[in-house]
Amino acid sequence: MEHIDPFLIHRFDTRSGRLCDFCRELDPDFGNRHPLDQMVGSGRKAIASAHLTEDGYVRHRMLELRRMTARVPLTAA
Ligand SMILES: [Zn+2]
Repeated sequence: MEHIDPFLIHRFDTRSGRLCDFCRELDPDFGNRHPLDQMVGSGRKAIASAHLTEDGYVRHRMLELRRMTARVPLTAA
């Protein structure tokens, strides 16, 4: 079970954010994230720096990197 920090809840009002479309689409583990790690600031684009939390930012970046890596053709047999 994830620890939910009351300070974070207070600091980042979930009503002021929305789910990150990018992460929702690409992260198979999206539903298991802490709710705040799923959110970007309302009105913000679905980019890493729009995430409300450090963990959300990092996960978003990891998805971006993974997608970039996947684009590289696997030429080695
Ligand atoms: Zn994201």
